[in-house]
Amino acid sequence: MPLGQVELALRVVAGLFVIVAPTLLFLGLWRALDAMRDDELIQQVNRRAETMDQSSADPEWPVDALTDDSPLSDTAPSVVTCGACGTPNIRDATYCQECLTELE
Ligand SMILES: [Zn+2]
Repeated sequence: MPLGQVELALRVVAGLFVIVAPTLLFLGLWRALDAMRDDELIQQVNRRAETMDQSSADPEWPVDALTDDSPLSDTAPSVVTCGACGTPNIRDATYCQECLTELE
């Protein structure tokens, strides 16, 4: 029966397609995402995260940032000196960043 064999071959081909197609589609999606990846953006985000980590580890950072020529430092005194240890703190701070004494 040649007709039955043709139908059987078609079913086998369809079955193979159903098995292989999702794999190929997944690999295609993977490669497309890899090609679309923006390495420069990732590096920028990493760099920003690193600088934020460093600045939070360094207690001098907020004072330096406010005593620069930034527009924030033009208005009012931006630094409050701690009465207990003399450490300069940012103006809106409630507690000293060095000794945790309450600021006025
Ligand atoms: Zn202090």
